[in-house]
Amino acid sequence: MSALHLHCKTLFDSTSLSPRTQQTLVAEHGVLTYVGPTAQAPAPRAGDTRVDAGEHFVMPGLVDVHTHLAFGNAQSEEDIDIWTSDEFRALRGMFFAQHVLAAGVTSMVCPGDSGQLSISVRNAINAGLFDGPRVAASSRVITNRQSLNDWFPSRVGAPEYFTARLVTSRSEAIAEIRTQAKDGVDLIKIAMDGTHRRPDGSIVAAFTADETREMVDEAHRLGCKVATHAYGREAVLYAAKAGVDLVFHAFYMDDDCIEALLQAGSILAPTMTFPQNTVDFCQPHDPAISTGYAAYCARTLEVGSAVLKRAKAAGIPFACGSDSGFAVTPYGEWHARELELLVKRLGFTPAEALFAATHVGARCMPKGDTLGTLEVGKQADFLVLDGSPLDDIRLLQDRSRFKAVYKAGQAVNLTRSPYNPKQVSDFNSLKWTDLYTRDRVTQLGKWTV
Ligand SMILES: [Zn+2]
Repeated sequence: MSALHLHCKTLFDSTSLSPRTQQTLVAEHGVLTYVGPTAQAPAPRAGDTRVDAGEHFVMPGLVDVHTHLAFGNAQSEEDIDIWTSDEFRALRGMFFAQHVLAAGVTSMVCPGDSGQLSISVRNAINAGLFDGPRVAASSRVITNRQSLNDWFPSRVGAPEYFTARLVTSRSEAIAEIRTQAKDGVDLIKIAMDGTHRRPDGSIVAAFTADETREMVDEAHRLGCKVATHAYGREAVLYAAKAGVDLVFHAFYMDDDCIEALLQAGSILAPTMTFPQNTVDFCQPHDPAISTGYAAYCARTLEVGSAVLKRAKAAGIPFACGSDSGFAVTPYGEWHARELELLVKRLGFTPAEALFAATHVGARCMPKGDTLGTLEVGKQADFLVLDGSPLDDIRLLQDRSRFKAVYKAGQAVNLTRSPYNPKQVSDFNSLKWTDLYTRDRVTQLGKWTV
């Protein structure tokens, strides 16, 4: 097989925070065999592919540690958990995985999915049936009464066949973890936040500390990583003390949580993109506005930024997640916005944000030690950019700056087929976003006596 020789002006290899100039990458069979000064690079052999990336900037492919392939750009909880068959979801997930890759995300973690969707997408990509990013697959989120995903009335439960598995005992939780491990997940996702609050506003965790530890121990025993959704202090604390590998959000944690996360060596992925997009993009007719959800997102980002800055200062490793898969975070669109938010909200340097979105994120992937940096022996997953994200981190959100995306030494097709957003879910039950009393329609100028 012929080798790829790529020369570039600037290389950010993510082994450190400093870029290097006049560098060459050589990849054979998808793996880097030389990374270093062009002057000392091995000479290409006959038949090798030579790419002169000229003035361009080369960095490792992005790792988005929080993409929900099953959600289908959901507009509501019903979209997430009721409408649309597993079969259609799998096809849709495969299609959207390609949009994710074309956005420069060469690896993604899918924490919380329906059935065997992300397992199947991962396997189909690995088998060479379709193009797509590397996938860390999970299955249904393990949820408890009054935790995230238990959003329907008790008599409905959490519909078993979609994105959550409602467990009501320790033995059910352990059995579900064993089933998911058997089915081939890379990680188990636990919904740690409850919906109940104490009079002081703090969120009651959905599982006890003991229950959490038992679940995490079993997942680890079976070789799976564990990720958790945790906004609240108690949820973060229990997760960290149980040794959860990847903690999302943590907006309402405190310094005890930071200490516990440090001790556990957990990675933190605040995933600010979802609330920030909700704050910035929602229109007056969106229920997120009328219900006050967008205002809650704004407050959460303010409160969260302060404690997350302290977590960064304490040395907790940060990764980048977008929560793609909602209508406010469509696939392939906002994966790189988290880097901008790390810089703007948490004071990361652009180089630190790149490090988070590559080096640290790769640790959440299967075979993560072969990903995330550009060094000899690692997978040749990288981006060729027109311009430096070290000068402007927002450049990664500008598709016109992507000159090429390589996965395993192969250039990815960056043109993506358009799709009809009205047909990606069976239907949405939401018909009205206002209450049409006579006063209201008079106010709207649509009715007079
Ligand atoms: Zn999520």
